[in-house]
Amino acid sequence: MSDLLIKMLAERDYLMADGAIGTNLFTMGLEAGDSPEIWNADKPEKIRALHDSFVEAGADLLTTNTFGANSYRLKLHNAQDRAHELNYEGVRIARAAADAVDRPVAVAASMGPTGEIFEPVGTVSIEEGEAAFREQAIAQAEAGADVHWIETISGREELTAAIRGASVTGLPVVSTMTFDTVGRTMMGLTPEDGVALKDSLSDELVAAGKASVLAFGANCGVGPGQLVDSVLSISQGGTDSQIIVAKGNCGIPEYQDGAIVYSGTPEIMADYARMARDAGARIIGGCCGTTATHVKAMVDALNGYTPGDKPSKEAIEAALGPIAPPPPTEGLGGREGRRRRRAS
Ligand SMILES: [Zn+2]
Repeated sequence: MSDLLIKMLAERDYLMADGAIGTNLFTMGLEAGDSPEIWNADKPEKIRALHDSFVEAGADLLTTNTFGANSYRLKLHNAQDRAHELNYEGVRIARAAADAVDRPVAVAASMGPTGEIFEPVGTVSIEEGEAAFREQAIAQAEAGADVHWIETISGREELTAAIRGASVTGLPVVSTMTFDTVGRTMMGLTPEDGVALKDSLSDELVAAGKASVLAFGANCGVGPGQLVDSVLSISQGGTDSQIIVAKGNCGIPEYQDGAIVYSGTPEIMADYARMARDAGARIIGGCCGTTATHVKAMVDALNGYTPGDKPSKEAIEAALGPIAPPPPTEGLGGREGRRRRRAS
């Protein structure tokens, strides 16, 4: 089993993650409503080109195009029977991109939410969710992933299902949650709640003879300011030794001419990367809207940078914009608006 990410973290103060998958695939021709993951089978050269662009920009870690490759999400595309294939292919493509360069690049096999509401409010049990995540994890490990990368999770039960499901392969597990609702996840968890949940799930894994959750953090949400604020809360809620992940969106999503666009510039993402580092993050990258150009700006901003004091809320807002901007759902209609901006 791969220990590449663990080795890289032992040798380096911080690692550069990559940018968005979903929003970049839209600029490469993916249509709204299409499954990005089916491109792993149908248009692998496009996925490879996106990974290559991040490697060229200096990313140390590639997240795979498998965010929605669980049987629940794939069912929306009548592809619920293709979870193994699409996870396997998604990891295989990223592995080839990572192995094509003469420096270590880790393959982080993405696992996003099912889109279902878990019991007791909804109908999906933790065990059912765990089975879907386990199916993803097994295929990802077979294809050579270095780590299972759980992201954009908002609920206690779903994080439990995902971490338990991912832990079956013996690969390291990393998890991030999305704190996009006035400093909480959509299901009401604060960053401190997330840390406590992650710690209790880690204890459960260790008791079962497995490794604890390797790193925890925040991704997506409403903007880089809010993301850095979440990282501050995570660092205050956990131990000094915890490894924190920051994957903020590229600026603030805005609804323009029928599409969501991201306001972030390379300069803003450079400031965000330094502030995320100051706030305590050791794995830093971008989520929705982040292109290879933004990744390169973050790489350059962190190269040789010595982290400063933890930033104040005022400093974060001055550099990165409001921590709690209004949600950009105007004109998209409630749920679909939310759904569309909660991607990878
Ligand atoms: Zn995102």
